[in-house]
Amino acid sequence: MVFLAGSRALTGILKCWRRALAPTGGRTLSTRCRYCGAEAVVRVPYAKLNLCAEHFGKFVVDRVKEAFRRYGMAGPGAKILLALSGGKDSSSLAYIMREISSSMGFKLAALHIDLGIGEFSKRSREAVENVCRKLGIQLVLIDLKRDLGFDLIDLIRRLRSKRVCSLCGVVKRYVMNAVAIELNADAVATAHHADDVLTYIFKNFVIQDYNYMRKLLPVNMGIPNTVATRIKPLYEIYERDLVLYAKHLNIDFVDMDCPFAKEEGMETVIRKFVEDLEARAPGTKISILRKFVKAHLGVQKDVEGYGRCSSCGLVSLRDRCSFCKLTEKCFGKPLGPAVREIIRQRFGDGVWA
Ligand code: SF4
Ligand code: ZN
Ligand code: ZN
Repeated sequence: MVFLAGSRALTGILKCWRRALAPTGGRTLSTRCRYCGAEAVVRVPYAKLNLCAEHFGKFVVDRVKEAFRRYGMAGPGAKILLALSGGKDSSSLAYIMREISSSMGFKLAALHIDLGIGEFSKRSREAVENVCRKLGIQLVLIDLKRDLGFDLIDLIRRLRSKRVCSLCGVVKRYVMNAVAIELNADAVATAHHADDVLTYIFKNFVIQDYNYMRKLLPVNMGIPNTVATRIKPLYEIYERDLVLYAKHLNIDFVDMDCPFAKEEGMETVIRKFVEDLEARAPGTKISILRKFVKAHLGVQKDVEGYGRCSSCGLVSLRDRCSFCKLTEKCFGKPLGPAVREIIRQRFGDGVWA
């Protein structure tokens, strides 16, 4: 496992693991697994279950399968591109998707973007390469510096911008969509879990951004050859359960925060609020998510009003997409078409397994 001692994320993960192992305040869980009678190591309050490690893993996997059915995320034969950052959530997503791929009839490939953020990118890439090697998933690696001639640090310097995460978001979203379109993926799967989605739902309610809220549905339908369908297989999986799952399977992940990461104060408050609701009434998170989906049915609206970029042909709300505009500003020409060409040349349709 890729660990960096002392990082904030590691401390949080270990605390979470200890709490789940000793949910009664430090005492060992004395009950038995509901399914096999072995000693239980995890209590799942919202399902009222005590489980051994093996049945806990199965419980998580079954919940993801159920989410695929409930939300109609993808059907047999679907080619699903896994967006892997190297963190615990996306590494766990890869394991779960590999586990369910044969019974659900999915074909998988993975995408990782090396952003060129020093040690963080190096370790993230190693973690993704290890996971893909272990699981036999073909990795589509886009190394910004090698493939496009610039990395995130170059962009920040050229633009003298402090808005690092929004620049990073433009690049990641563009590359992810371009890869999915060029490889004919039926869907791109991201690792947003229940706690992420709920935090953004409440945050966007507070700032009254209802357009963004539609992006928080479990499925966002695409437009052929323009924008890929995006799905969130971990929609009903709690972050705590993902931590336990990753620990249980000894999954490789980079436990190091991006040096540019900073959680907004509002998000911290909302996460705590959501945790409190769940502690008072286990299952509240899932119930809110299902009500949210019901209230926002008609996911096709997600792509209403979208057109195509006049430079690269991919999705854009205006004449040209953000990536083409950004790269023209920095390098004198829009690089969207070059990105598409590189993907076409380097990776054929043979990446799916
Ligand atoms: Fe990119 Fe910001 Fe995430 Fe770092 S924290 S990977 S810069 S979006
Ligand atoms: Zn068991
Ligand atoms: Zn474009």
